[in-house]
Amino acid sequence: MKSLKLNHFSIFTLSICSVLLLIIASCSNSDQDNNEEELIKIGNKQSEEINIINFESNKPRNVILMIGDGMGPNQISLARIAIGGPDYRLAVDMMPHTGIVLTHSFGNIYTDSASSATAYSTGTKTINGYLSLDSNKEPLSILTEELYENGYINGLVATSAITHATPAAFYAHVDDRDKEIEIAQQLIQASSISIALGGGKEYFENIETTEAVEIFYSTDEVRNSNNQSNARIIGLFDEDGIMRAENKPTQKEMTTMALTHLSNKAASCNGFFLMSEGSQIDWGGHLNNSSYVLAEFMDFESTLTDMMQFVNEDKNTLLIVTADHETGGLQLLGQQDDSLIIKFTTNQHSALPVNVYAYGPGADSFSGLMDNTEIFQKIVEALDYKNIQKSNCK
Ligand SMILES: [Zn+2]
Repeated sequence: MKSLKLNHFSIFTLSICSVLLLIIASCSNSDQDNNEEELIKIGNKQSEEINIINFESNKPRNVILMIGDGMGPNQISLARIAIGGPDYRLAVDMMPHTGIVLTHSFGNIYTDSASSATAYSTGTKTINGYLSLDSNKEPLSILTEELYENGYINGLVATSAITHATPAAFYAHVDDRDKEIEIAQQLIQASSISIALGGGKEYFENIETTEAVEIFYSTDEVRNSNNQSNARIIGLFDEDGIMRAENKPTQKEMTTMALTHLSNKAASCNGFFLMSEGSQIDWGGHLNNSSYVLAEFMDFESTLTDMMQFVNEDKNTLLIVTADHETGGLQLLGQQDDSLIIKFTTNQHSALPVNVYAYGPGADSFSGLMDNTEIFQKIVEALDYKNIQKSNCK
């Protein structure tokens, strides 16, 4: 809501606007004025059953963190209604523990993915654009670094470049998220991430690699995932973000490969941490493109179904689903005939809180209202790695 109180400056601005208005037809926030309402056909699919079980322990061995970039509560509701109608239940709707996450960054109501992912990976709020550095540019200790030191292995999956802000905050310390070549360098040369799958081939072109790292580019590696190599694995499946195509891996395929790799390798470790991001739900939001948002969400949703089944079988894994922020200011306005009326109100991120969902041992602490930095703290408390004897799984 804009303030109605006008001071001299705003009256002056208004006069300038009126003049400019004659020239360019509009001088206010154009995406707000130009966006049209859109009709989305209400779906009628039946909900699929997912078995939800009780866990006696509250101490997980492993943690899987799924982040839907730009996936606000309304993106989830849009998907629910578009797929199966208002009574349909998505996999995410069946997660038994839910909470609300405040997303503001250091000194700003608005957050970008870099500061938000830094809150998740380090437990500290920072300035938009910074990756795992505090607001004074001092390096912060990253969850994956601490876990590795304590005998865990780590994996990352993203449908963007693996050097993009969200995955990068889980291994890089950089003062500008756009320094993607430097971020790629840190992934290869300075990080201990055991498997990292995504796009971003173009950022790795001139980086010297080592024997300890195996880089591959073929989707077949993911689809016939029987890689027994002891090297750290980096999979780069597109120049930048992964285009959705038959010959490109989905989030679900990459996450399955990372999970297989981590669960095999972690047998001699204290456990594993896997972060899997549906990166392009955000890109659909920036473009105000509802079918893009829905296609990306569907991949996220079927990845989640697999992860919930893994939690049921493994019984030692805590699964957390959240978003870094909402993108597009998406509004669900009502019904017209057999369609839902929606409208995007910005092509940027909004300042709305997001939801968090949890399942598995330790999931019940993810309820109520929390700051984004508390997600990190709750993971640390659940794993309790500081009180576990270090394993020697490296
Ligand atoms: Zn964004």
